[in-house]
Amino acid sequence: MTSIRTYDGKIYLCKTCGQPCYINAEVGSSHFKEQWDGIFCQRYPLAGELLEMEWHAVTLATLKRSYPDTYPYLSS
Ligand SMILES: [Zn+2]
Repeated sequence: MTSIRTYDGKIYLCKTCGQPCYINAEVGSSHFKEQWDGIFCQRYPLAGELLEMEWHAVTLATLKRSYPDTYPYLSS
């Protein structure tokens, strides 16, 4: 899955839950990996209709940092 912390493309808001999301070339609007346990979107891991945002660069950087990477990786 895609990480919001490193994602370089355009970030939208999901009209279903109000959280950030992006356009996945294969499946359409989708949420990010870090949102797996922290958001309550009925469509997760997909997202709803997209709301286009004019992000201020600092706001967007803060937004990305605000999502800790808590995805349960398997330890090797
Ligand atoms: Zn959503």
